Amino acid sequence: MPLHALSTTSVEYCELCHGTQFTEVGSKDRAGKALRTVICNDCGLVFSDPRPNTEQIDVFYRESYRLSYKQAYEPKIKHTYRAGKVAQDRLSYLMPLLTPRCRVLDFGSGGGELVFILRELGYDACGIEPNRGYAEYSRDVLGIPVQVGGFTEVEVAPLSLDVVTLFHVAEHLEHPVDAMRTVSGWLREGGRFLVEVPNVESRCIWPSSRFHQAHLYNFNSETLAQAGRLAGFSVEECFTSPDGGNVMCVFEKKECIEETSQAPLIGNAERVAGIIRGHTAFAHALTAHPYVRPWQKLFRQLQEQKAVARFDHGRDVLLHIAHQIERQPPSPPIEGGKLPDGDFDVPASLANQ
Ligand SMILES: [Zn+2]
Repeated sequence: MPLHALSTTSVEYCELCHGTQFTEVGSKDRAGKALRTVICNDCGLVFSDPRPNTEQIDVFYRESYRLSYKQAYEPKIKHTYRAGKVAQDRLSYLMPLLTPRCRVLDFGSGGGELVFILRELGYDACGIEPNRGYAEYSRDVLGIPVQVGGFTEVEVAPLSLDVVTLFHVAEHLEHPVDAMRTVSGWLREGGRFLVEVPNVESRCIWPSSRFHQAHLYNFNSETLAQAGRLAGFSVEECFTSPDGGNVMCVFEKKECIEETSQAPLIGNAERVAGIIRGHTAFAHALTAHPYVRPWQKLFRQLQEQKAVARFDHGRDVLLHIAHQIERQPPSPPIEGGKLPDGDFDVPASLANQ
């Protein structure tokens, strides 16, 4: 069953600041279906209101989510290649945080590409994937340790991990701050937590493509950083992709940090609402994005076809990428630098199609 067909309940208060005053900033999702999206007047967090309940969301992700995106329970070879290249890009952010034999967990590991490549590079990596089909593919075909389940279902020993990654997951969660607190419990003191989400301030896509039924939350760097602080992390660095489509925060688990209150984020709501309102179809048509992106997409598809033509299995594609990284490790990100473009992102890339 599609997510928009599930019954919904109204949101009583904001997840970040407990504010109760919201302003509508959207009425449709990218497919043109009804989706009411609001902004919290006090902190600028953007979210769907009303939204499906936890139980319905869990069933959707366990059984339907990947299928509704990719029309398959198992990744096609071109999707493995694309996700493998995304993993390669992400390693430029991840590798400076890794030490030999450190323990890494990728939550929302999808087809297992990042975990597989990390293990090939010698790290003790594992994954958690809510979708059963993708988790079974990761275990059975790639031979990597992946648990099936959501934050409340999986078993991870307290203080057992050095690094946790959460790429394009937080926007799907009903209670992202609670999930981040759970991650904090898994990490040792000084452990790092990388979180990447689509950027609600993005102006690289058509305005009508901004909201998605599966994205319960729409963050910018301020609200993402605040979510991490509320979960007990300190913010080490934030990055934005060159096209502005994604934001990433690197958090650190400190031994003793100041308690963050659920205070408003002054000025953020006005800023975000102004960007959303100002990004009209007319304004977008006057930028290069709508004319450049179709060509970028076509170029990418041709590149993918050529690259995967010599492989029969997704596993071989990932081994090839891992060997490329061994030969030429990714450069660390420039300070205050940029993320790789959102174009290769899965599933965020689908936002741009
Ligand atoms: Zn708020």
